[in-house]
Amino acid sequence: MALREQLLAVAAELRRRKAEGDKTVSVGEDTLLELRRVVESQSAGAKPETRIPKSEANAAVATTAKSEIRISNLESSAAETGKPESKPEPQFEKPETRNPKLETRAPEAGVQESKIENPKSAIPPPSFELPAGDKPTRWNWLRDFVVNHPVCTAHLRPDKKVVLGVGSLDARIFFCGEAPGADEEIQGEPFVGAAGQLLTRMIKGMGLERSQVYIGNIMNWRPEIATPAGLEQTGNRPPTAEEMAFCLPFLKAQLAIVQPALIVALGATAAAGLLGAGTFKTLGEIRGRWHTFAGVPLMVTYHPSYLLRDQSIRKKRIVWEDLLQVMEKTNLPISDKQRGYFLER
Ligand code: URA
Repeated sequence: MALREQLLAVAAELRRRKAEGDKTVSVGEDTLLELRRVVESQSAGAKPETRIPKSEANAAVATTAKSEIRISNLESSAAETGKPESKPEPQFEKPETRNPKLETRAPEAGVQESKIENPKSAIPPPSFELPAGDKPTRWNWLRDFVVNHPVCTAHLRPDKKVVLGVGSLDARIFFCGEAPGADEEIQGEPFVGAAGQLLTRMIKGMGLERSQVYIGNIMNWRPEIATPAGLEQTGNRPPTAEEMAFCLPFLKAQLAIVQPALIVALGATAAAGLLGAGTFKTLGEIRGRWHTFAGVPLMVTYHPSYLLRDQSIRKKRIVWEDLLQVMEKTNLPISDKQRGYFLER
């Protein structure tokens, strides 16, 4: 990806974070140094990169001395921002460990359709038919088809994996996230990094095991960011609209096999991929309400990565209330204790 595209990707990600109410993101010194190095090498006598359109530049950022980036022109609603808590906050069962690798991602953030062009993903979405047979037969066929699909594998770095969903093929609840990150592309399984561990605790909070639900993503490979030769990709970017459109048939096929009672879209990217990017401006507008995708009831809530960044009890309660609705709809037993999780005392 050229410098311009990378900067557009960063701008898109910051805009999405802003839409979610994020006021700051942290950037490591090494990243800043690398950015400075790239910008200097590009501007030293070379003809300038194509200018970033003004609309993209509007998501611009102001850096502080502490390598913290403030997202400018914050205009999210009170319902989305919330005040930081001063007292210790309850956790989804155990304290979260923050994973800096995942913190560069803004999976729950806004809804802008990315204009980044990626020739490899401008290919029409695949058209295929699942074989007849029982669920395991169909799912195994699909897994082989997806993990060996030439478009998917063309996006992989060496030794990395295409990621299909996992879980019970009889699950009533189908969680849908954004895209694999660093941990997922190594293990070939969705939601195994820090956000995944939090998702697992949320599922346990609902009285279920991870193996009793199905967990997939709107996209099946880790969206690439250009990285100097020989170095691992450290950051993440949201998938483009084209990438999501390409992978959507894979998600639909998983839904067709599992036939869940409902879907939970985790974050704005998943929601945009399922409901259409133009259908909402901020996640706050659509979360906590029932929608429909492919005839299946769909609940939208914040992405666990967002809860890792905003650890306020208020945000946890908001997500928990969405999950209580999911529990009610699937007739899961709900104790008084569960009903009271993350209520401020
Ligand atoms: N975030 C996602 O949206 N999906 C994953 O699989 C991991 C992190």
